[in-house]
Amino acid sequence: MEAEKVIADLESILGSEHVHTDGKTREQFAEDLFFSGPSPLAVIAPASREETCDAIRACTKAGVALLPRGGGLSYTAGYVQSKKNAVPAIVLDTRRLDRILDVNPDNMTVTVESGCTWETMMAATAEHGMRATMFGPTTGRYSTVGGSLSNNCMFFGSAKNGTAADSVLGLEVVSANGAIIATGSGATKNSIPFFRNNGPDLTGPFLNDAGALGVKVSATLRLEKIPKGQASASFTFASFETLIPAIRAVGQSGLASECLGVGPAPLGDEPVSNPTMHVVCEGWTQDIADAHLAAIVELVGSEGSAVDPVAPDFIRGNPFSFVQSPLDAKGRKQIWTHGVFPLSRVTDAYDGFMTVLNDHFADMIALGIDASLSFACAGHAMMVEPVLYWHGKASALHHNGMAHVEDPAPEGADAERRDQRVRVIREAFATMMDDLGAAHMQYGRFYSYASATKSETISLVRDLKRSVDPNNLINPGVLGL
Ligand SMILES: Cc1cc2nc3c(=O)[nH]c(=O)nc-3n(C[C@H](O)[C@H](O)[C@H](O)COP(=O)(O)OP(=O)(O)OC[C@H]3O[C@@H](n4cnc5c(N)ncnc54)[C@H](O)[C@@H]3O)c2cc1C
Repeated sequence: MEAEKVIADLESILGSEHVHTDGKTREQFAEDLFFSGPSPLAVIAPASREETCDAIRACTKAGVALLPRGGGLSYTAGYVQSKKNAVPAIVLDTRRLDRILDVNPDNMTVTVESGCTWETMMAATAEHGMRATMFGPTTGRYSTVGGSLSNNCMFFGSAKNGTAADSVLGLEVVSANGAIIATGSGATKNSIPFFRNNGPDLTGPFLNDAGALGVKVSATLRLEKIPKGQASASFTFASFETLIPAIRAVGQSGLASECLGVGPAPLGDEPVSNPTMHVVCEGWTQDIADAHLAAIVELVGSEGSAVDPVAPDFIRGNPFSFVQSPLDAKGRKQIWTHGVFPLSRVTDAYDGFMTVLNDHFADMIALGIDASLSFACAGHAMMVEPVLYWHGKASALHHNGMAHVEDPAPEGADAERRDQRVRVIREAFATMMDDLGAAHMQYGRFYSYASATKSETISLVRDLKRSVDPNNLINPGVLGL
């Protein structure tokens, strides 16, 4: 591999202003919100599918790996190599691939380039009174459709319609040799992307793949009409033990568009505030939305006390701007570790969370590490997500990845010990979840995929990886591949 030659080739394909080799940029792109790795040789930013194909071909021909990156707002080493197994690599920043390719109100589809943000896509579809069925994560102002489909993600519309992957009708993915693979009906001669299950579902393998199987350059998503009716409610519960049956019942009802339960960790003798649950229902008319909400109030029963729905109303009123920073409201670092569980195992996940916290309680108190737990309905499943908060070292991405952060809280003397302890607790959460057979979004290089998957299945995935990327140069190491 001759680094200088690859860089020169990339400069002639993309223009030298879109090939960044300065130390500062390379360092910044060697970090996500939790992990850091070796600096890449360069950061490149193609602006079209053709440029992306040519750039990938130039890199893989020279034996240089590509690490695809969208908004960069993940925290599982999805685009950061581990120092131990790193190979020479270039980060491919997709954010200039940001065009809306087609909004088709008749077919109820939208096709966007992969670096398009959820907010940009929403603005384009809303002009037609439509939105994607899962219409974005809370970071939708910054996170890209391509990054979110490679991670999979959930939030807006997820209680009713599941995750982002569930809304996809077809993809265009660039494989290691620079060829574009189309999936769904978009792969059929003379057709267009409007239908996913046309023959074997070849869209599925490229979703939630952490970018292991190629670089997505476009995606077609299913649209729905934006409902006219909306109604929301918030409840407090005496404990998580009483919240869990209620949120499970809401999930089973299929009546909510979003349903989120959240509360601080009930540890030690210190009193903590009660957990709360927030629900948004929608309907073709306001009467229908109100009827859905009334049914949910009945399901929740007397265990939940209704309070003003300030949170869901604010979130729905500011869907892509209510989260402004990767830091918490007190300016501390925060990190999320999630598992997706069948509804029958949500209580086990809660018990597992409490066990991990009890195991680490003394250190958490000594080091000032706080925790909370949240639950979110994802179609017929439940995402369970412990969050840790601590005074640690904020990176450039914490400052620049979203709206500007004025003053992160001071790190304090024990920042390194705290960072280290958070790593240990986070690993313990992930192990606990894997023991319970959790599924994950955002696998990256953090959650166990290859080692947790049955041998016949992982062998097929490895075969697929070999056929699209024989020399393991597209995001090597993600999914344990
Ligand atoms: C404050 C905060 C709030 C959040 N809220 C939510 C939430 O509500 N719901 C949720 O699900 N997540 C949430 N997240 C996590 C994160 O925002 C989402 O996972 C988001 O979808 C990531 O998109 P991205 O463009 O930043 O992806 P990136 O972080 O850039 O990349 C994610 C993965 O996809 C790969 N990748 C990126 N682009 C491509 C491509 N074109 N082709 C192939 N592979 C690619 C990368 O290599 C990496 O493995 C939150 C994060 C923060 C910091």
